[in-house]
Amino acid sequence: MTDSSDCVFCKIVGGQIGCLKLLEDEQSLAFLDIGPQAEGHVLLIPKRHFERLDEMSGELVGRVCGHLPRLSAAVTRVARAEGCNILQNNGRVAGQAVAHVHFHIIPRRSGDGLGYRWLAGEYPRGRAEEIRGQLEQALKDLA
Ligand code: 5GP
Ligand code: ZN
Repeated sequence: MTDSSDCVFCKIVGGQIGCLKLLEDEQSLAFLDIGPQAEGHVLLIPKRHFERLDEMSGELVGRVCGHLPRLSAAVTRVARAEGCNILQNNGRVAGQAVAHVHFHIIPRRSGDGLGYRWLAGEYPRGRAEEIRGQLEQALKDLA
């Protein structure tokens, strides 16, 4: 968890920095991205400061992400796009520049030049068992 006092999205939530707001409820806020990757690029955030998704409870993620179906449909329709990507970056290595959880909704049109290097690889033997073990441990820790 990082310090929230210098967080640009906390400042947006607090009204110290303006935004083009699309949706707001007790836990969530959605607004237009200041540097859109495509016309209609939207950010959906929890109002509370969390740096990474795994710091949030599943319940809160559910409340915030509950907006994604309708919000992405509205954004895609208004941007006259054919589809959209929903992206959530965790950590600098994954492209996270703002250390406050956010979901990107990026409208996509054929030939827009946006993309993702998707290199199919292989898992080492036993990796699924290892991940299941981690999940079981995490559930035990929660209990
Ligand atoms: P990240 O790389 O962390 O996943 O994405 C951060 C996003 O936040 C970028 O797309 C960037 O354009 C957007 N952003 C950064 N500062 C501001 C701001 O002050 N206002 C708005 N509306 N978007 C911002
Ligand atoms: Zn924040």
